[in-house]
Amino acid sequence: LVSRDNHPERSTVRVGGVPIGPETVTLIAGPCAVETPQQTLQAALMAKAAGATLLRGGAYKPRTSPYAFQGLGEAGLRILADVREETGLPVVTEVVDAHDVDLVASYADMLQIGTRNAQNFALLQAVGGVGKPVMLKRGMNATIEEWLMAAEYIAQRGNLDIVLCERGIRTFETATRNTLDVSAVPVAQRLSHLPVIIDPSHSGGKRDLVLPLTRAAIAVGADGVIIDVHPHPEQALCDGPQALVDGDLEELARVMAQFPPLL
Ligand code: PEP
Repeated sequence: LVSRDNHPERSTVRVGGVPIGPETVTLIAGPCAVETPQQTLQAALMAKAAGATLLRGGAYKPRTSPYAFQGLGEAGLRILADVREETGLPVVTEVVDAHDVDLVASYADMLQIGTRNAQNFALLQAVGGVGKPVMLKRGMNATIEEWLMAAEYIAQRGNLDIVLCERGIRTFETATRNTLDVSAVPVAQRLSHLPVIIDPSHSGGKRDLVLPLTRAAIAVGADGVIIDVHPHPEQALCDGPQALVDGDLEELARVMAQFPPLL
């Protein structure tokens, strides 16, 4: 279903009216995690100032340590809905448990499947049945074939509004959080009609890598990028070191201005 063999035209997925597809490079930005209403609104305004047309933000945070901040849950979803109201930016947010899919879908414009759940087949099937677009991150240890088969689980439930997101894979390299596999973009676009975007924040894991990796994403033909921003990353409850700050926005806006959003 996701193969390009039977569907030679590349697809565009619309999220609350915002297209992600071959016509432009869509900027999705926002906080890694929803922490407070003020922080989320500030981050959303930063995202918008840089040219973002979709807001990201995690209310459910899958963390390596069970002692780390796990997200605000439904209270976080309510904050995202309020910030959407205030900014007009449709919301992309992660769902980590099949039991929460209906709840998250009732607030979100797009459901995100994170790298750790990329082969959670029950969750993939559940998001496939709920009628909202899905962003499927590549499993950190997944081959491109495994990633596309994960997308197939969603598509089998009747949902072809799927965006693939390359977010870096595990390699022997420790200088970056993950190794961004830029070749995954043209490979996946050749094999599948689905849009393919890049997450330069979770791949590099460091603020000063985000803009260079964003340029790489655009150069390789990605259909979008998803970027963490934070008004006060030194106080962030999650992934502060990779969040762009106010001083980075002008350059991000310049990079994105080559690809004005098609609304
Ligand atoms: C995220 O985007 O918030 C996230 C946790 O990303 P990943 O699943 O790629 O680690």
